[in-house]
Amino acid sequence: MEVAESFEGKCTCGEVRYRMTSRPMFVHCCHCTWCQRETGTAFALNALIETDRVELIAGEPEVVDTPSNSGKGQKITRCPRCRIALWSNYGGAGDVVRFIRVGTLIDAGRFPPDIHIFTSTKQPWVVIPPGMTAVAEYYDSKQLWPPESLERRAAVFAKAKK
Ligand SMILES: [Zn+2]
Ligand SMILES: [Zn+2]
Repeated sequence: MEVAESFEGKCTCGEVRYRMTSRPMFVHCCHCTWCQRETGTAFALNALIETDRVELIAGEPEVVDTPSNSGKGQKITRCPRCRIALWSNYGGAGDVVRFIRVGTLIDAGRFPPDIHIFTSTKQPWVVIPPGMTAVAEYYDSKQLWPPESLERRAAVFAKAKK
């Protein structure tokens, strides 16, 4: 049984505010060199959630086409004023699942990673806790996501096809 919770986030200048209307399906800590460049730091922390569970509270974010590691591109949603990135969509799937930048959530500490990915390019000083799920590159979500998250994702993609 899913508890109804919501989590607000915002850009740095505060013009764009949004709310996740539930917990995300899964949280990635990505150590790929693309995320390192895009964030200017050692990794990106992304909460994967259905687009229809992200509500815009204020502002009109702009969507910027950006190259991606996969070659399929990504669309990064940014504040039009301070340009902070709030979330991305990847690949050809369209705006079905959003990768929320966890650091933009007001209560960002609620969402530690469920998995570390692309650890093959991890900065050597980032030490992953023992027992934490970590993969050298990517992974099969069917093996690692909780069943309820897989159901949520299947539901949202089934709806998107209609
Ligand atoms: Zn802003
Ligand atoms: Zn990455």
